[in-house]
Amino acid sequence: MRYECNNPSIIPHELVEMGLDGITTTILECKRCQLHENATNKVIMRGGKHPKVLFVGEAPGKNEDETGIPFCGRAGKILDELIDYMGLKENEYAIINTVKCRPPNNRKPTHKEILTCQPFLYAQIELLNPKIIILLGNTAEKAFCFSSLNWGKKVSTPDGKYFIKIYHPAALLYRRYLMEKQKEMIEINKDLWQKMI
Ligand code: SF4
Repeated sequence: MRYECNNPSIIPHELVEMGLDGITTTILECKRCQLHENATNKVIMRGGKHPKVLFVGEAPGKNEDETGIPFCGRAGKILDELIDYMGLKENEYAIINTVKCRPPNNRKPTHKEILTCQPFLYAQIELLNPKIIILLGNTAEKAFCFSSLNWGKKVSTPDGKYFIKIYHPAALLYRRYLMEKQKEMIEINKDLWQKMI
C-alpha cells in the first residue's frame, strides 16, 4: 500500500504485526501529539473487522469523545442513514477517523496531527483490508495526501482499492439539501460494493 503523496508513507509494519487489538492498546496509551491532553476517550473504530467498505471521518466530536464510539451523535445518524441507503449490513462496513483524539473546540486537526496519527490509520486499513474507502470530507482526504479528489469520483490504487470522497455528514446537518447530491455520488458508485455483497 502506497498512496499518492509528496512524502510517501509506507505500511507501518510494527503496528500491523500487533493486529487490531494491539493497535487499540497502543492508541489508548498514545501521547504522540498534543491532542491526547484533552481527550476523554480515544475513538478507534466501529463496525466489522472484515469490511467491504471503510468510512474515514475527520476527528472525534463531543459525543464521540464522551463515548469512545465513532459517529455516535447527530452526524452519525446522518451517516447511518446513508449506510442504510447503500444497503450495507453491520459487518460489511467499518468507520474510523484520521485522528483518534478530539481536537479542542471541535477545530480541524492540523496537518502535523494528521501525519502523527497516520501510522494508526494506515495500519488499521492494512488489517481491515476494505476494497472501498469512502473519505468523509477534505480532512480525511488529506490523510492520504491525494492532491485533490473530485467529489464522488472514484480513484483506484495499484493494490486494487477504490477511494471515493463524499461530504462529511456534519456538513449535511444544516444543509439537508446536500443529501440528494450525496445520494447521487453513492448512486454512480454503487456497483462497486453491490457486486461484492
Ligand atoms: S491523535 Fe493519534 S497520534 Fe495524537 S495522541 Fe491521539 S492517538 Fe496519538
